[in-house]
Amino acid sequence: MTHLTSETFDANARAALTDTQLRGALRKATSLFGERRLEATKSLPNWEDLRSQARAIKDETLLHLDGYLEQFESNATQAGAQIHWARDAAEANSIVCRLARERNARLAVKSKSMATEEIHLNAALEAEGIEALETDLGEYIIQLAGETPSHIIAPAIHKTKGQIAELFVDKLGIERTSDVSKLTSTARQILRAKFGAADIGISGVNFGVAETGTILILENEGNIRLTTSLPKTHIAVMGIEKVIPSFANLEVFLKLLPRSGTGQHLTSYQSLITGTKRRPEDEGPDELHIILLDNGRSRMLARAVTRQSLACIRCGACLNACPVYQQVGGHAYGSVYPGPIGAVITPQLFGLAKAAQLPYASSLCGACREVCPVKIDIPELLLYLRAKITEGPERQEAGGGWQEEGPAKRRRLEHLAFKIWAAVMTRPRLYEWNGKLLRVFQRFIVRGGKIGKVGGVLTMIAPPLGAWTKARDLRPIDARSFRERWRETNGFGDD
Ligand code: SF4
Repeated sequence: MTHLTSETFDANARAALTDTQLRGALRKATSLFGERRLEATKSLPNWEDLRSQARAIKDETLLHLDGYLEQFESNATQAGAQIHWARDAAEANSIVCRLARERNARLAVKSKSMATEEIHLNAALEAEGIEALETDLGEYIIQLAGETPSHIIAPAIHKTKGQIAELFVDKLGIERTSDVSKLTSTARQILRAKFGAADIGISGVNFGVAETGTILILENEGNIRLTTSLPKTHIAVMGIEKVIPSFANLEVFLKLLPRSGTGQHLTSYQSLITGTKRRPEDEGPDELHIILLDNGRSRMLARAVTRQSLACIRCGACLNACPVYQQVGGHAYGSVYPGPIGAVITPQLFGLAKAAQLPYASSLCGACREVCPVKIDIPELLLYLRAKITEGPERQEAGGGWQEEGPAKRRRLEHLAFKIWAAVMTRPRLYEWNGKLLRVFQRFIVRGGKIGKVGGVLTMIAPPLGAWTKARDLRPIDARSFRERWRETNGFGDD
């Protein structure tokens, strides 16, 4: 169950580019996040050291992930939590639905969780007749709108204040207002009543500490506190890569994550949950279930290049920095994981065949790598995935590698073009004659001293050239080549 429209990224992006309201909202929000992040990082002179430390912790954990997960399971169980292992989305959903059924649950309150978005848990619960209500304000807005999140930490980033006001009039029947505090207090009133009535609280997990079995969840609205403390049963869905070895490691990640995500020094709330309540008279849920979700993650462990994808702490900084995301927004990626990190983990989680356009949704400018608090080399990953797509299915590795998932799209034309390019570049005379031919040919497409939008035929036979000149002019090839000038000036040839 993937519901991806990543196959149509190109078309999605083209449509997004015509939406001026969307682009305005994105520009405002991403530049604000970017400025705040920069300011916040300045408050820590050892920022670069912290990034290196975080990456080292993640690398060490991922190399011994099985051991740390077992340690986490053992300590969380000792503290009173129940651990469930889910190989894929279907298994995770069926565990949650079974737990809900066994407790005759009718209403589940949810806090923002990318893992539950990834497995489409809401749809699974609704199929069982259980209402799944999002309680993070951004998630609540997009749930009302019947949409999916368009940013990892700001799900409704694509919506303007006016659009949200209209939505509340339409769906909640309130009077039209542009007062943000009235809109938020409306949502708060509705949601507050639900926390007490809910049978189950469902959350994600930011970090799971192996040495104590503790889970940490970060937030700013207080809805996670209510989700994880008022209902009698708390279910936390945790990707297996979220485990870290020790409590002391949190010091590093708590400095990096809020600063990179929202530009805060610390989020308003940090919920550290170790098992269930100690005594019956204590407050809090009677049960804590933690679902350890694989869903394609263990395939990424096989190689260092793909393993680094699992170091992601979902801060969203790479989205805000990415010139592609800034223009097209998250929905164009057709995945719960948008932006640069989405472009590399979506094909790995769901298969290259379903997301072959995403590794190309980048200018490879490296802005994502520069801001990433755990130093993930996203351009390296993008190039790796592009190579896998170009190789095609018959050269993909056997033995359980993620590349076996679905056929990758062959790019025969690209192969052919590079073969011709190599043949020309390694033969000086052929190169020179090719230049002469192109100079003759370009007469048909040069207008006013430049190559502008090229004609339909050329676009058909050389699509990259057509796409390139759609938005740019190209300088024509000079009337005389460098070699010809050299010969004229120096009186002898170079070959
Ligand atoms: S890849 Fe890096 S910058 Fe992007 S969301 Fe993950 S941790 Fe943040």
